[in-house]
Amino acid sequence: MENVNVHVNVMMNARKDLLMDMPLTPRLIHAVPPQLGTYLRPNRVDHKALLAFIAEGTPAGLEGIVFDPTLDSIHTELRDEARERKIEAVLDTRAMELALEGGYVGSRCALPWAGEEMHRTDSLRGEAGRDCAKRITDWMAPRRYCSVLAPTHYLAAGAADPWFAVDRDLTIALRAALDAAGLAAVPIYYPLAIKGEAFFDARQREQFRLALTSLPVDAIWLRVQPFGSRSGGNVVRKYIRACADLHSSALPLVAEKSGTTGLALLAFGAVGGIESGITIGEHFDANSLISRREGGKPFTPQARVYITALQTFMSKQQARPFFDNRTLRTYFACKDRCCPRGSDDMIMYPKRHFLLRRTAEISRLSALPETVRASRYMEEILRPATDQMAKAVKAAEHLETTRQRLDMLRSVLGAILEDSQPVSFSAVPEGKRIQTRRGA
Ligand SMILES: [Zn+2]
Repeated sequence: MENVNVHVNVMMNARKDLLMDMPLTPRLIHAVPPQLGTYLRPNRVDHKALLAFIAEGTPAGLEGIVFDPTLDSIHTELRDEARERKIEAVLDTRAMELALEGGYVGSRCALPWAGEEMHRTDSLRGEAGRDCAKRITDWMAPRRYCSVLAPTHYLAAGAADPWFAVDRDLTIALRAALDAAGLAAVPIYYPLAIKGEAFFDARQREQFRLALTSLPVDAIWLRVQPFGSRSGGNVVRKYIRACADLHSSALPLVAEKSGTTGLALLAFGAVGGIESGITIGEHFDANSLISRREGGKPFTPQARVYITALQTFMSKQQARPFFDNRTLRTYFACKDRCCPRGSDDMIMYPKRHFLLRRTAEISRLSALPETVRASRYMEEILRPATDQMAKAVKAAEHLETTRQRLDMLRSVLGAILEDSQPVSFSAVPEGKRIQTRRGA
């Protein structure tokens, strides 16, 4: 049994308060650790690129696809294909949006669980909450989703927010409704939508941890605002530290809208999964949902070009002149199989390039023992990116802010590593009920 990386289920001891009647012996669950992964959120025009991508085979770094119920008719084929390929089809009920002025708009208001008006805490307590959970279950059952995000809300006031207690009851009601509908195997993931200040506050974090550990949930999805690809090094450091405190819950952590910064979180063991849009949606900002915007036509942003070596994105308008420069093209044009014509293909098929590169980045990290992922990420991804950025910024001034952010990230993460290698690692999402994994 040499060289077999034994992964022991430590969750039993961590959750023994819930499992008093079960044996507490650690149990072998995997000969190798499960794959780190990303969840992707397709918008109304992404399904073709995503379908073509998964038709080529199931990529190792892709854990799941998060579906918007208002795009159900557009995404039906993608959902079926995902399930076929053993990629998780996750339903996001958009409950958070349904309780925000800027979110209770358009086709969302017609969802079977949307009700007559914008959701308030009072409209989802007790029987009304159970009815909402039942409507969600009835809608998702025939569509055969693999998992569902609990219908939780944005906790503007942190752990003291009145939504928090309502959300816990809604989650319990959803579990009961799913079980009653014969969907006991469908995992529920809990989106914890909070401000950075609440997440970075140790006292509140402990309240969240205690509350979530006692719920029938199978992962925590961190929807921390503001956070994402524009976050500076210090925020990333605080985020990593905060995640470590949640690891004792034994629940997998997924960093929503984290994208490129999410790679650092995966490498440092902070989270076991990340989530983003396809070349977009790498930043969470609830403010855009809090107030109503007029003239609300659905706005679909254009796909951006992922410059892998620089760990950044550019609009097509920025990428064209950038790659017109021969030196830059030599350095930064994709040389992988996704782009046989280099930068021309990156600009012509930015989604395909992104999907292949991002899943490859995650697979590469996954293949390493978790204790060396952080230093390899620094050596192979972040350090080269900051070094190369010095060249790139001379020709493209718009990269200056990204250059500063990456430099800061490098120095902050470098300092963490100098202190000590990561010792605490998030459980990894596997698309299963935690109870099932426990063998209960
Ligand atoms: Zn490429």
